[in-house]
Amino acid sequence: MKIKEILISENYGDSVVVKGWVRTKRTSKNVAFIALNDGSTIHNVQVVVDLNDISEETIQDVTTGASVAIEGVMIESPGSGQHVEINARKIEVLGKADPEKYPLQPKKHSLEFLREKAHLRFRTNTFGAITRVRHAMIFAIHQFFNDKGFYNIHTPIITGSDAEGAGEMFRVTTLDLDNLPRKEDGTINYEEDFFGKETNLTVSGQLEAELAALAMGEVYTFGPTFRAENSNTSRHLAEFWMIEPEMAFYDIHDDMDLAEEMLKYLIRYALKHCLDDLNFLSKRLQEEEKNKKQEDRAPMELIEKLNFVLENKFERITYTQAIEILMNSKPNKKKKFQFPVDKWGIDMQSEHERYLVEKHFQKPVIVTDYPKEIKAFYMKVNEDGKTVRAMDVLFPQIGEIIGGSQREEKYDVLLKRMHEMSVPEKELWWYLETRKFGTVPHAGFGLGFERLMLFVTGMGNIRDVIPFPRTPQNAEF
Ligand code: ATP
Ligand code: MN
Repeated sequence: MKIKEILISENYGDSVVVKGWVRTKRTSKNVAFIALNDGSTIHNVQVVVDLNDISEETIQDVTTGASVAIEGVMIESPGSGQHVEINARKIEVLGKADPEKYPLQPKKHSLEFLREKAHLRFRTNTFGAITRVRHAMIFAIHQFFNDKGFYNIHTPIITGSDAEGAGEMFRVTTLDLDNLPRKEDGTINYEEDFFGKETNLTVSGQLEAELAALAMGEVYTFGPTFRAENSNTSRHLAEFWMIEPEMAFYDIHDDMDLAEEMLKYLIRYALKHCLDDLNFLSKRLQEEEKNKKQEDRAPMELIEKLNFVLENKFERITYTQAIEILMNSKPNKKKKFQFPVDKWGIDMQSEHERYLVEKHFQKPVIVTDYPKEIKAFYMKVNEDGKTVRAMDVLFPQIGEIIGGSQREEKYDVLLKRMHEMSVPEKELWWYLETRKFGTVPHAGFGLGFERLMLFVTGMGNIRDVIPFPRTPQNAEF
């Protein structure tokens, strides 16, 4: 029986078998208490062992980290903290964990230490909670789109176009790097490579999702994406998961409505289905906050923060308005920003995004209509000819959580934009054809799954919300 089920059961007297990993063992004269966890819940079940019933050899091997199968009887717990516990009749130690060597002894470990023990960190309360919340969010994303009639599309992970990710892509090849085939002019002959051309890992499934949307109506991808950007920040991974809905007949306003509805749905889902884990993460965070200076502390605890986002409509402003606010802001005038805001046209940095959200509006903000120079070629050009129908959703502590836009559906305008931005038209002939045959207004966005996880769990570093992070100089496990 799963511990999660045992803990809500009132079938006192029933026999059960429970299997899991020992968190702690306390021994007194004639009894031992084992706190057992099996990953099904943040809570442990308490197993009471009468030392007259179980051999000394066995109980000696029941140490933190060991795996056990325990047969026993559920009884009403006389202690506080739980209403049911298990009286052990038989204990089988499945796998010992040498206390001299097992790294996760029951004490506080730093997140940095646990990153180096990523193979074992699932066994901590924190990563157990994060893993369950991550699963719930994956499930809720599919639920959300399925309920709305969207189709899930698997877009390719190996791609032959580097249109989007100029310079930020991981090469895929089977060529012998020590002995590369060369053409007469000395350049590498990719015709001899596996696919007969240069291929990379995808940075986004959007372009292919658009193809599907222009027949299926509303679709979404949810897959891994790869970026070789050398940005060693707490919000960037080299391998991350992205949710990319793409909708025919949507304009930018419909796009923003969907983004806001989706984020709120996911947060509500987490509060409803993961409250035990969120409460644990909230307490953990509050402990951490105590070590910070007053002015650096988060204004709200986790659950309060999540509810706050649910209760408030996201502020919607244009890029032009955002720049005006930033130019006149105190930190800008006092030269507190690392990147000063001095003119229309600059690319907003995370510090600017966070100022808008955390200080100025104090709620999530959607910024629209960015200068076309700083956005991708496929975004629809506005009537002013200067801005594009982009929309970025900015969240507290994170900055950009979603990037999206209405797509350029006019063939001529799109082609012109590709030329302007040196996007190879030949490689994207298939993308262009959708604008030749039955084109329609359409829109979509990309939600970084780990950025969502950062927000929902309140964790500070993106390396801690994915089981096995991939970052520059790090691909262990
Ligand atoms: P940023 O400016 O934060 O690097 P971006 O503008 O490069 O983001 P997009 O290309 O618009 O991001 O990607 C869509 C979404 O994917 C972003 O809003 C963000 O949530 C997420 N994202 C982008 N890059 C990363 C990354 N390296 N690691 C994790 N998530 C990312
Ligand atoms: Mn980026």
